[in-house]
Amino acid sequence: MGTPRIRRVGIIGSGVAGLTSAHVIAASAEITLFEADDRLGGHADTCLVPTPDGPLPVDTGFIVHNERTYPTLTRLFRELGVRTQASDMSMSVRSDGAGLEYAGSKGLAGLFPSWRNAARPAYLRMLLEVPRFHRLARRLLRDESHDDRTLAAFLDDGRFSPFFRRHFMAPLVAAVWSCDPVLALDYPARYLFEFLDHHGMLAILGSPQWRTVTGGSREYVRKVAVELSRRGATVLLDTKVTSVLETGDGIEVTDGNGVVRLFDAVVVAVHPGQALALLAEPTPVQTEALAAMPYSQNVAQLHTDTSLLPRRTRARASWNHLERPGHAGVTVTYDLTRLMDLDCADGTRYLVTLGASDLVDPATVISTRHYEHPIYTPASVAAQRRLPDIDTDRIVFAGAWHGWGFHEDGARSGVAAAERLGFIWSRPAAHLTVPRIYRSTVTHTRRSPLKHRFRNATHLWLVDLDDLPDVGRLAALLGSFEARDHLGDPSGTIRENVEALLAGEGIRVAGGRILMAANARALGYCFNPISVFWCFDAAGHHAATVVEVHNTYGDRHAYVVHPDATGRALVGKQMYVSPFHGTDGHYELVVPVPTDRLQISVRLVTTDGAVFDASLNGRVADVHPVRAAPAALLGTVRIRAHGLWLWTRRLPVRPRPAHHQEGVR
Ligand SMILES: Cc1cc2nc3c(=O)[nH]c(=O)nc-3n(C[C@H](O)[C@H](O)[C@H](O)COP(=O)(O)OP(=O)(O)OC[C@H]3O[C@@H](n4cnc5c(N)ncnc54)[C@H](O)[C@@H]3O)c2cc1C
Repeated sequence: MGTPRIRRVGIIGSGVAGLTSAHVIAASAEITLFEADDRLGGHADTCLVPTPDGPLPVDTGFIVHNERTYPTLTRLFRELGVRTQASDMSMSVRSDGAGLEYAGSKGLAGLFPSWRNAARPAYLRMLLEVPRFHRLARRLLRDESHDDRTLAAFLDDGRFSPFFRRHFMAPLVAAVWSCDPVLALDYPARYLFEFLDHHGMLAILGSPQWRTVTGGSREYVRKVAVELSRRGATVLLDTKVTSVLETGDGIEVTDGNGVVRLFDAVVVAVHPGQALALLAEPTPVQTEALAAMPYSQNVAQLHTDTSLLPRRTRARASWNHLERPGHAGVTVTYDLTRLMDLDCADGTRYLVTLGASDLVDPATVISTRHYEHPIYTPASVAAQRRLPDIDTDRIVFAGAWHGWGFHEDGARSGVAAAERLGFIWSRPAAHLTVPRIYRSTVTHTRRSPLKHRFRNATHLWLVDLDDLPDVGRLAALLGSFEARDHLGDPSGTIRENVEALLAGEGIRVAGGRILMAANARALGYCFNPISVFWCFDAAGHHAATVVEVHNTYGDRHAYVVHPDATGRALVGKQMYVSPFHGTDGHYELVVPVPTDRLQISVRLVTTDGAVFDASLNGRVADVHPVRAAPAALLGTVRIRAHGLWLWTRRLPVRPRPAHHQEGVR
């Protein structure tokens, strides 16, 4: 039997969301990436500045990330070998009206660049209000009640001073989210604080080490593109999609030249307003949610005009907010020389300023870019909660607007969109740390002749057959993995028995790693309805997967399958497992190589259609082995109780054939 057919997937938009989605999906499907611009990357945008020493890459869009709170992006970078370097993150505020300049994270020199600051009671009070703000914000996050106050209401309730509001709070939010400082106060407080807390910004100490991509963000975009091309993806630049239509045959994607292409599925990775405009027949929920998530337009200029920075050099930082009362929008200047540690022997400072085309000396402008940023209001945050409902089975959405609007949000949304289409980003098994335990949910869904579903929680181990967990004298209690509980010769090792089975199929793993997901023998008992073995050759390539099925009569059968990159495989049913099914039909298996998630699902398809599904979905959990010890025992009890229940419902029992199969004792 073959594997399910490979799908053709269209991906619209090549920002970090579209690129990450493409990276995941291209491993197992034919993809076409559409980009309206003449380059890939969207907000990952690097300008090559001509200098006497050659072109100097300077980021004008996405600049910094960190390894602690950007796990998806970091994983992508590692996988592609993208080099990154430590950056200097600090922020300054300059208010000409108030005669104030300070830089928050540059110690006393930054807080008191001039002794005038020390003689300002309002400023000193503001400094004292900062830790109080951190405390109250963290308390709000701990509070389980539904608190939908805006930032302004939160500050009112906390009796924060107008000085704190104007010269600390509004600049911080405006600079981080590139939004108008007045609008910043309308942001939902809890939503903001979740982000600030996540990034270590609700404490004086504890910020992560921020990093930039060495050579500019174009370097990672280039590496994604090289990998896509290696996998045979089609990349269409200067190709704006104008319509996406779901038909009975698939998804029709029409571009600005009127060319129509047909796909099995599409990832829409553009901004919400753009997404809505290209949907030919949006559903009511798509219209409502996408229309409620506005973006603001920002002009970004790359220039060398230092007059936008604080006047005192000690108050200059990496991000520099300039207060301009009465001016709509934010004015913030990123010092790329500092952020990217640019080698500028002549002392030139390369700066990117948002929202100040009227102030920047035109003679110093190197490049002008136009970007859009999501605006977060109580209405848009409410709309964001509806995003899980806007996907259809074949059109899914991605973009940084699925989260807080940052690069990690974009990358994460791209992976999630791929997963919703069934494409799992499998982690090379060589990188998995085992043993590990997955906190899991088992679901059984019976469709015919009786409709019934049951679900229960359990724990399942993932172990390396060469390095089985050893809990010493407590093994009988906490668990051990023994050959007698699996296929093959009980006097051999599990590994020898799996290798012998594979050898019978002409597969040699030559010492490669074998991972097994199974219950341990604990409390004197072991039962595994399904154990799965992912077998890799010495080079780390996935050679085969073994799915070993046990029934409660003591029979077992091991299926050797070759799943596609999404973990899917078909195999004819060989063994009588449940008294309510015969041995006819085939299994549709989904057994992707485990990551931090574990997915094992089996669908039994007979001439009556898909009659039964069993699945186990788990997330890796930091739990003591004692939690997994009763899993086998509880599993058996539940299966038998469930069988009894079905029998009392008069579900017809199918006769059990005589078995003599490999590994049956
Ligand atoms: C100046 C600036 C600085 C930033 N700094 C940081 C930072 O330091 N750290 C951080 O984490 N985040 C930062 N961000 C935010 C972050 O970079 C973005 O939110 C993120 O990159 C957005 O990714 P995306 O894939 O959702 O959208 P985008 O990157 O905007 O990609 C969307 C793509 O879709 C294309 N497109 C649109 N319509 C169509 C169509 N009809 N057909 C085909 N293609 C289409 C667009 O041309 C674009 O390439 C910054 C953003 C900006 C603007």
